[in-house]
Amino acid sequence: MKPYELTIAQAVKEMAAGEFTAVELTESCLDRIEKIDKKLQAFITVDREGALSQAIAADKERSAGRVGALCGIPLSIKDLLCTKNVKTTCGSKILENYISPYDATVVDRIRKEGGVILGKVAMDEFAMGSTSETCAFGVPQNPVKSGYVTGGSSGGSAASVASLECLGSLGSDTGGSIRQPASLCGVVGMKPTYGRVSRFGLTAFASSLDQVGPLSRSVTDCATLMNVISAYDKKDSTSVRKATPDFTLSLKKGLDGVRVGIPLEYFKQGLDPEVERVVQNGIEVLRSGGAELVDISLPHTEYCVASYYLIASSEASSNLARYDGVIYGYRDQQADSLLDMYKQTRSKGFGAEVKRRILIGTYALSSGYYDAYYKKASQVRTLILGDYKKAYEKCDILISPVTPTPAWKIGENSDNPLAMYLSDILTISANLAGVPGLSVPGGFTGTGLPVGIQIQGDHFGEEKLIQAAYHLEQELNLELPPLDI
Ligand code: GLN
Repeated sequence: MKPYELTIAQAVKEMAAGEFTAVELTESCLDRIEKIDKKLQAFITVDREGALSQAIAADKERSAGRVGALCGIPLSIKDLLCTKNVKTTCGSKILENYISPYDATVVDRIRKEGGVILGKVAMDEFAMGSTSETCAFGVPQNPVKSGYVTGGSSGGSAASVASLECLGSLGSDTGGSIRQPASLCGVVGMKPTYGRVSRFGLTAFASSLDQVGPLSRSVTDCATLMNVISAYDKKDSTSVRKATPDFTLSLKKGLDGVRVGIPLEYFKQGLDPEVERVVQNGIEVLRSGGAELVDISLPHTEYCVASYYLIASSEASSNLARYDGVIYGYRDQQADSLLDMYKQTRSKGFGAEVKRRILIGTYALSSGYYDAYYKKASQVRTLILGDYKKAYEKCDILISPVTPTPAWKIGENSDNPLAMYLSDILTISANLAGVPGLSVPGGFTGTGLPVGIQIQGDHFGEEKLIQAAYHLEQELNLELPPLDI
């Protein structure tokens, strides 16, 4: 096996045994990126020099006997997490040349454990989308089938991990943006409980929903990355003061006595039969592994899309007000007055989808409409949370599809925003309720497209998600799909 093909756990072992150095591993990833990324377009920025100097430092630390959990492990970072010295574009022209003066807390935590940051990866502009097609710097391809979407918005993260350009990645999930691309590209992706992972240095899309999480090639690696990034952070006022368990201890717990809920509303019409087949097979694997199956109803699921798009767009309209050409990012040079400068900067700097969200959000928040839209949506949000709380009296985790369909062709839905929004129906509720969710590879369609299985849990119940996902991974024992890059 080539070094870049290894999982984090394997690479950690091999480096400890002296099979190769962090510099050699990093070089093998950088060479792979060089070879395939022109077509794949997972990376927006490759930081060759920075990565190599971090790898040299990791090798030095190792020889001094200081071996962090990610010592010498090359990772990619979604381009909305701030990185000192390397551009953070958010996939937008308005931040094309923006360099943050500080690292996001999660980036800092990765560095402290010896991780090597290869660069920043593609995403839908400001994380608004489900395909990564709204990225201003090229559309990433699905590594398993070129011409197909990676999913989004963390499409570059999923593509870079699935295509063996890096060993793991960090993404963000506001309405499914980690779980959905993980499912469509055939990797593991986890959205932690809201408040488990610091959002300091995560560019805000919808602050009450955004959460950072890992994408990886195995459940074990997901647990390792969760160990590194989870912690209370006084720089994020929504971070929760709660001890971080060792998530790797959950891996081998087995399933005896675990109550697995099957939410009936997640298996309704519109679900692709091949996706359903993969998920039903996963349910059977859990049952025969000792889990008890329970039928669950989450009756407000049908309102989650409307509620989410009102809340997320409202918060986005407020958060994105800061991009006015004054403090940072692009500034239009032709304008002849301050007002015109604001107008031109925002008109030229933002893409169509971001403008659509700002318009929806500004409308929903405007006086006279607030009660009818934002307030109503927030009330529905409380009902959705109530559905989960009731469900978790009867079960420990929920199992379901991640998305109603497998990946589709690039361009197929790009001028149909409503179809795109509706495809988020199975991931959004977890964000509205703040509960954790995970996508683990479950199988493939007849044409070889990956299909993930979603596991959701109660607040701070990530350990149970990891426990069940590991069981599925071991029992299904899927081969990595052949790559088409
Ligand atoms: N697809 C959803 C949206 O467009 C979710 C995006 C996300 O999780 N960042 O808003």
